[in-house]
Amino acid sequence: MSFDTIVVVDWSGASSPSPVKPSKDAIWIGVARRGTAEVETSYHRTRHDATETLAMLFEAERAAGRRVLAGFDFPFGYPRGFAEAVSGEADPLTLWRALSDRIEDAPDNANNRFAVAAGLNDVFPGIGPFWGCPDNLGDPRLPSKGTLRHGHGMTERRACDRTKGAQPVWKLFTTGSVGSQALLGIARLQALRHRFGPDLAVRPFERHDAPITLVELFPSLIAPTVEALAEENEIKDRAQVRILAAALAQLAPRQLDAMTREGDAEEGWILGLGHETLLESAARAAFATPDPLEDMPKTDLMPPRLRDDCFAMPQGVSWVPVDDALAKLHDALHPVTGLEILPTARTAGRVLAADVTAKRSNPPMPNSAVDGYGFAHGATGTGVQRLPLVAGRAAAGQPYPHAVPPGHAIRILTGAILPEGVDTVVLEEDTNTDATTVVFDGPAKPRANTRKDGEDVAAGAPALPKGRRLRAPDLALASALGIGELPVHRPLRVGVVSTGDEIVAAPDRPAAPHQIWDANRPMLLALASGWHCEAVDLGHVPDDPEQIAARLDEGARKADVILTSGGASAGDEDHVSALLRQRGTLSSWRIALKPGRPLALAMWEGTPVFGLPGNPVAALVCALIFARPALSLMAGAGWTVPQGFTVPAAFSKRKKPGRREYLRARLTEDGHAEVFASEGSGRISGLSWADGLVELPDEAVEVTPGTPVRYIPYASFGLI
Ligand code: AMP
Ligand code: MG
Repeated sequence: MSFDTIVVVDWSGASSPSPVKPSKDAIWIGVARRGTAEVETSYHRTRHDATETLAMLFEAERAAGRRVLAGFDFPFGYPRGFAEAVSGEADPLTLWRALSDRIEDAPDNANNRFAVAAGLNDVFPGIGPFWGCPDNLGDPRLPSKGTLRHGHGMTERRACDRTKGAQPVWKLFTTGSVGSQALLGIARLQALRHRFGPDLAVRPFERHDAPITLVELFPSLIAPTVEALAEENEIKDRAQVRILAAALAQLAPRQLDAMTREGDAEEGWILGLGHETLLESAARAAFATPDPLEDMPKTDLMPPRLRDDCFAMPQGVSWVPVDDALAKLHDALHPVTGLEILPTARTAGRVLAADVTAKRSNPPMPNSAVDGYGFAHGATGTGVQRLPLVAGRAAAGQPYPHAVPPGHAIRILTGAILPEGVDTVVLEEDTNTDATTVVFDGPAKPRANTRKDGEDVAAGAPALPKGRRLRAPDLALASALGIGELPVHRPLRVGVVSTGDEIVAAPDRPAAPHQIWDANRPMLLALASGWHCEAVDLGHVPDDPEQIAARLDEGARKADVILTSGGASAGDEDHVSALLRQRGTLSSWRIALKPGRPLALAMWEGTPVFGLPGNPVAALVCALIFARPALSLMAGAGWTVPQGFTVPAAFSKRKKPGRREYLRARLTEDGHAEVFASEGSGRISGLSWADGLVELPDEAVEVTPGTPVRYIPYASFGLI
């Protein structure tokens, strides 16, 4: 589910209206629209005013069909056991009802929270757990200091309150009195629950998708970033709601939705706890416009999710030619990974997420391409040239600080900036010198042996394109152009699971005669890592629908795409395809390809699943031909077509029309393609014997020794 409008509320437990002039420690509301950095902020003197404003906003957004995520900076729950002790049930929302029945909170902020807390303390033995009150309260049930409490039996903090700076929920008075904010806040939110009914869900307690979702926030989670991004003299509370709302609006919808569901169903949870780095980079991305992110549309930060029916094949299609299947895959997929900014030196193998332009020209100044002597061309002519040498020299990193007079020369070394008065260099080997004069044959070519500034790349010119999978030379270029950080895609997470009752997970485990060791999983995991993806090992599961389903659920949580092997056909024992058909959105593609029976493509919980054949030979070919370009596209690096070479065959083969074939092959010493002796699809040794594949076209072919064939080395498929 995605949220269109993000609301962040900085709450207050004050007992009287806040000052007329917008000030700190009052209620501030920030409203952001997804994918923009525009945040509207408003200041509210009372809880009554703030809640009315929120209710109107919720009404308007609901009417417009925009989903709202509203976050509040007070605890939604209490340490385990409290709800049951107060309301008789462990359900936190039953507690909300019980608390709001007790709280009175007038339009001018006058309220009875201390009396309510004192009453709640009565439910517990000893003294506490609530504490903190003004000196004049004088209720013996509510101690003025935390240390005066004893024997109440409640833990001090919720699991999520162990984060830095979080205050215990029991504290009602002075600094960070979240206890008061929670009692008064929960009562207000309970009123909103009443008003909006099933259209409002409180996470993580309620799981249903509703037009309005409420969550607990803690702006201090990203305190340093808020401080860094705050405007000059901006009131802290305003900066917090503004920046946090903008950050949340930048997150990928699926990621944000998943975050709202995290945490403890009784105690509640702080949204984004454990994801601080992500929130901080989202906040910076929302406001920072330094290059190289400058020209990048902000929406790139939140790739849209894939449609559930994206793999659907037109009705009535039986055998799909390989190229049609590839075209269909190409259209169905798009990049799904978020981005991060990394130091250039750490980006090898990553995918560039934005076009990058040169910060400075390379070279920055005209310089010498050789060791030799520099002079002004205009003062030289034909025949023997004798130029007196100036004292000193120009070397790389040691510029000559004076002008060289016309008719004079200077000793100059490779990489040295051309001193003023020098535009041409003669190569040392073409000269003679006695240390005071240099002699050479004219005429010299104007600007010979020099490099113009910007002749490689001019400042501001395109340097590296978005989508480039960064290689060592790209790092050299970016560094030379002064680009110290690059926006890159997060690595695509590829989950790999093997299925089959006969499969034993790893060769260090014993296998009965009817069992075989898992060959596909190590192969597919290594492929994924070699493709610079994050390989996520999802293990092996027997042919049991429930177990396969549970593993796919795990995969959908941990990975951006899942590769399964085995059980992908349409037979009795083909449990993966049966399950995907039943529970996912399956398109079984019968591809006119050998080796490789049907390829199952499906969406499981929004995550694409490639159901590869169990046969290792077919699994590899299908992975190389279909999964590789698809994963590349999803990773942001665009569709890839493996580079093949036409070489003479060293074999004979007659092939019928109607399907494409890939043969395990390698090059002979004289550059001919030889193929593995057996085409049997169970022959794993042939996969290892080969260095690549020979691709035979869909049409009929008759190959005899010497016939040109297309050979695609494993390296062209990115195999390591
Ligand atoms: P399936 O696609 O499940 O019908 O499997 C086809 C063939 O591949 C069968 O002979 C399986 O035993 C074999 N197979 C399936 N998965 C694996 C695996 N992970 N490693 C090795 N062989 C496998
Ligand atoms: Mg099987």
